[in-house]
Amino acid sequence: MLTQPMPRPATTALCLIFCLFLAGCQQQPAEHKAQFFIFGTLLEVSLWDTPPETASRAFGELQDMFQQMHNDWHAWEPGQLTEINRAFQAGLPALASPSIVKLVEYSQQAELKTDGRFNPAIGALVGLWGFHTSDYPIEGPPPAGSQIRALVATAPSSLDITIDGQQLTTSNRAVQLDFGGIAKGYAIDIACDHLKTLGINNAIVNAGGDLRAMGDHGSRPWRIAVRSPGGGIIGSLQTTRDEAVFTSGNYERFRQDQLQRYPHILDPRTGWPVQDVASVTVITRQGWLADAAATALIVAGLEEWQGVAISLGLDQVMLVDETGKAWVTEKMNERLEFVDGVEKEVVNF
Ligand code: ADP
Ligand code: MG
Repeated sequence: MLTQPMPRPATTALCLIFCLFLAGCQQQPAEHKAQFFIFGTLLEVSLWDTPPETASRAFGELQDMFQQMHNDWHAWEPGQLTEINRAFQAGLPALASPSIVKLVEYSQQAELKTDGRFNPAIGALVGLWGFHTSDYPIEGPPPAGSQIRALVATAPSSLDITIDGQQLTTSNRAVQLDFGGIAKGYAIDIACDHLKTLGINNAIVNAGGDLRAMGDHGSRPWRIAVRSPGGGIIGSLQTTRDEAVFTSGNYERFRQDQLQRYPHILDPRTGWPVQDVASVTVITRQGWLADAAATALIVAGLEEWQGVAISLGLDQVMLVDETGKAWVTEKMNERLEFVDGVEKEVVNF
């Protein structure tokens, strides 16, 4: 989890700040930046070498688009997704916007390829753990084992959903959609695609370290930092052309009691948080896939992450275990420049 702590926003408000950075004494600003607030996360868009009027138009349009996604996709603030979940609970079909239909399709792919480790239908379980909040950490003991077992027994799955045009139907009333593990990635994809339609090809859309970078930063590539689960930075890398870099972690969003921490990524098969992985970083072309994969690979853990990564078609992955040791694929190792002192092991696939 790489989002930055922010004050809780008014339910619908997204904030937008324009900053123009002047390169030397050039007349035109070389880099335009704007910040947005979406799903409790600060998202920064940086454009390189874009005419000011195009930048301004892009930021205005992105503001509207992010606002729409926030309203439609939010897992607990009343909006389109909460309506869909209500319909499912009542055994009724639900109409969904094209973006939610797409999220369901992507989620189904991810759930299938990860054999249920990524499962966006476990909204009731996420809610039971108290993770439907932006105020972390949550204080207090875990829910009762009997309540957890009861929800796991209902076996919700995104594969229980049938898509017919824009209509969603489910055979399982326990399906409660929560796109917390994929929405940021898809939002970033939509933003990047929109920038391209405006002729903007050099940009970064960055949600606190989860990002997609396109093109370059003038004469040099974009260089981005990968955050360490223990705080600070574990390494940095240069992005090439158009790719997404996402990290999921078990170190920032969690519940805690006197005994231990209970992080916000749940193993859908047990209903309990995953404890033995500190973070997973994935590089691939699409944001939605990088996001969902990072979440799924945390659930896969040290024993199974390589098989699940192969099944997802990924070859640039890093898993950091709870001792701080980094396990990296060969291709990730070639990309990432580690800071001094990181213990690492390269796995070959
Ligand atoms: P972050 O928001 O920290 O980047 P993730 O992308 O891993 O982290 O998303 C975590 C969120 O995904 C949780 O808050 C919850 O809403 C949802 N979630 C938790 N466990 C799973 C899971 N096994 N599969 C799909 N979504 C999950
Ligand atoms: Mg994710």
